[in-house]
Amino acid sequence: MSNQIKFMLLLGSILSLGFIATSMVGYFVARDSLTQQISTDTLPLIGDNIYSEIQRDLLKPILISSLMANDTFLKDWITAGEESPTKIRKYLENIQSSYDTVTSFFISDKTLNYYHPSGILKTIDNNSTTDRWYFQAKEMSVSHQLNVDFDASADNSLTVFINYKVIDDKGDFLGITGVGLSLSKVQAIIEDYQQRYDSEIFFIDLKGEVTLRGPASSKSLNLEQVIDGSSIKQHILSQKSASFSYRKDLHKIMFDSRYVEELHWYLIIKRSDQNLNNSLFDSLLINLLISLLITVAVLVISWFTLGGYQKRLEIMATTDKLTGLNNRQMFDPIFEQLFNYATRNNTDLAAVIIDIDNFKEVNDQYGHPFGDKVLIEVARLMQQASRKSDVLCRWGGEEFVILMPNCNSVEALVFTQQLQKKFAEHCFDIEQHSIKIQLSMGLSHKTAADQPSKLIFRADQALLSAKKSGKNRIVIG
Ligand code: GH3
Ligand code: MG
Ligand code: MG
Repeated sequence: MSNQIKFMLLLGSILSLGFIATSMVGYFVARDSLTQQISTDTLPLIGDNIYSEIQRDLLKPILISSLMANDTFLKDWITAGEESPTKIRKYLENIQSSYDTVTSFFISDKTLNYYHPSGILKTIDNNSTTDRWYFQAKEMSVSHQLNVDFDASADNSLTVFINYKVIDDKGDFLGITGVGLSLSKVQAIIEDYQQRYDSEIFFIDLKGEVTLRGPASSKSLNLEQVIDGSSIKQHILSQKSASFSYRKDLHKIMFDSRYVEELHWYLIIKRSDQNLNNSLFDSLLINLLISLLITVAVLVISWFTLGGYQKRLEIMATTDKLTGLNNRQMFDPIFEQLFNYATRNNTDLAAVIIDIDNFKEVNDQYGHPFGDKVLIEVARLMQQASRKSDVLCRWGGEEFVILMPNCNSVEALVFTQQLQKKFAEHCFDIEQHSIKIQLSMGLSHKTAADQPSKLIFRADQALLSAKKSGKNRIVIG
């Protein structure tokens, strides 16, 4: 596996692990702090809001019942012996229509008559289970209670009754009066709270029985569920207000309860962190998706950047900076490759080492930068003269090597002669100077039994003798 791929895998792993770790930590921290916030801040606030809304929505009928229980007309009429029932019928009818309640009633303790806007509905029977509520209401220690029951006067539909004690000036019990509200209407109010506050809302009475709940809250409230050693019911009934929670199948169920004095019921707000979890989970997925995209983008950018750098490094390592030809490091592997190819296929290979004559003088006379420009121009001319398959290399300072595959000794000689001629005719017009350059060349041609070093050695020796014998010439080695 290449180093670049290894690096990419490492980078990808580090980025992915980093992103996954931060996303997960963020998810859990957000979940914990939000559920904490819900149970400590949000639920009690919802409780406060609903409490004040109950006062607005449900306490009005209690107030009406209280007014009825304290009405002097009613008390006078009872003490006067409950004569002419039409009066009480009209009174109750008036209450019902004025306050838009589903029913209004008075039960006399003396006669046990159940007075209703339509007349005397019935007489309360001590032995009937349907009338037991009356005797319970009579015994209650508080002034009133709410009771969900069937309304015998209206097709036995479920009704929320407000039972208010009527007490005379001497403190004697005269009966129970009050109004009734349609349960579906009350449930609609609760359902409205539930939807607005995204919570389940229940009421339980002092005995811990669920008295009212929204119509849509299908899940039963298991009040026997034990939390910290006591049941939910005990938690609620033992204090005026409480906040507690428990875990159920990965979810946290949170409660806030408070006693509503006027109803003699506990208001309970229940919320699961499921919706919160779902939305947090969605944002976790979005986070991970964004992280994935960033990781892919970083990997793609890194791949191309690294690839570019590597190519540049390769070029820098193999190319002569001044002339752009292959450098000495590059020469060895190319030469080995060409030599082996020629040996295997029994083809020609020629090598020529070229040295610029008296180049030191050029430098001395015109300066080093001028000499550099000459070298660049020399390389360009050599490249121009060579074939595509020839390999040019800057061998050292002002020395060059040209390897000519598939070039026999005659062709190689012709090439060097042409090169010599080209240089003889060429004027180097640089920085307002015009100079001429001459070359000494050592040429060698591969023999069948040649060693690679021998071919270069012979060319080197030939160059040496070209120099020794007067320069500006070609010697075959
Ligand atoms: P000869 O005919 O015997 O080859 O004489 P020469 O002066 O060409 O050879 P010598 O070996 O005495 O000097 C080579 C000169 O080439 C000296 C050095 O400053 C110059 N040279 C080598 N590399 C560079 C280069 O990159 N740029 C420039 N401007 N000059 C260079
Ligand atoms: Mg030299
Ligand atoms: Mg020289």
